[in-house]
Amino acid sequence: MKKNICVLGSTGSIGVQSLDVARKAGFRVSAITANKNYKLLEEQIREFRPSFAALFDENAAKELKTRVADLDTKIYSGEEGVLACAAVSEADTVLDAIVGLAGLKPALAAINEKKELALANKEALVAGGRIVLDAVKNAGVRLLPVDSEHSAIFQCLQGSPPNKALKKIILTASGGPFFGKTKEELKNVTAADALKHPTWDMGAKITIDSASMFNKGLELIEAHFLFSVSPENIDIVVHRESIIHSLIEFEDNSVLAQLGVSDMRIPIQYALTYPERYPSPVKELSLSDIGSLTFFKPDYETFDCLNICREAIKKGGLFPAAVNSANEEANRLFREGKTGFLELSELIRTAFSITPDKTDYTLTDIYEIDRACREAVLRAANQI
Ligand code: NDP
Repeated sequence: MKKNICVLGSTGSIGVQSLDVARKAGFRVSAITANKNYKLLEEQIREFRPSFAALFDENAAKELKTRVADLDTKIYSGEEGVLACAAVSEADTVLDAIVGLAGLKPALAAINEKKELALANKEALVAGGRIVLDAVKNAGVRLLPVDSEHSAIFQCLQGSPPNKALKKIILTASGGPFFGKTKEELKNVTAADALKHPTWDMGAKITIDSASMFNKGLELIEAHFLFSVSPENIDIVVHRESIIHSLIEFEDNSVLAQLGVSDMRIPIQYALTYPERYPSPVKELSLSDIGSLTFFKPDYETFDCLNICREAIKKGGLFPAAVNSANEEANRLFREGKTGFLELSELIRTAFSITPDKTDYTLTDIYEIDRACREAVLRAANQI
């Protein structure tokens, strides 16, 4: 049967690549959504002819509606519109490529409608944590990782003995554009400097997160939730070439790795075709062309965001959600030139003192802590 998918965040870096995978594999795309990029969404609607499309931004949705009035695609708007697309009855799989906490409710809407969830939106799992995992369990659906590191771990685990033999996860990190720099050298770097990622072409928010290494911290928390491995058993190694996407180590110290060129269409396609493997639009890996692979310890002193995420997941409860929200706000301020690179971790750390120690949290608690952390960051950055 032809795969039928919904792509949330279809105008972004992952969204566009997901549609490319769908195009080449011949999948039906029954719903697509974005925030406000009506021009690209119109192009995508004209090519894929989805039954439904939505823009979060009401004005952009109005514009889109006028532009595609000649087509049968039904256009929705606002959060309700995005949620309706996430729950669209035709789709069997929803790929969540929305950036930030905005992707959490759509992820839950998809799960609650018993859709398989291909998750790129790591912030949804980091902030939603147990709530997302419980929803997946109750709905009896699969949660398939799209993030390249988690796809690598997931792929290594195929055919492996049950998790008890798994000793360790080793997450690889490119190190970002500021690898090897001292704090002194990072004092005056700008968002434009941080946006020059050495190996991956990604959206602005995740590229800044890669520069600060908060992204690797988010991935540590994501790995903990996805694979039930305690944070002490998740190592991080800097691997500049981004060819090994991550590794797992068993009790007998045997290590498995997944390798490939750095192109997100490989993990996107695997999440959409699992357990099958389709021919890929991506070029083959040539190790002899690459020549050598390098590995380094992360610099925890300079990149404090790694410590922040480790501390947050050890504390558990609402702490991962809190540091995620604080980072979303700090990241935005940095992109807008309103704070410095070295101030990012100080701003994010404000989340710790205002987060209640609560293990039995609800969705309402997550949105309350989101609001409080964003406000605390703005205050600490003298923006309110
Ligand atoms: P982009 O910024 O490129 O795209 C984000 C998408 O989300 C856009 O379609 C955007 O619409 C949409 N969007 C933003 N805000 C909202 C909202 N409030 N409601 C609905 N839609 C919204 O991000 P990326 O594609 O880089 O990343 C997406 C997710 O995937 C992130 O969580 C990231 O961490 C993760 N990821 C990304 C990787 C990459 O290579 N890019 C690798 C691994 C994970 P619009 O265009 O209209 O603004």
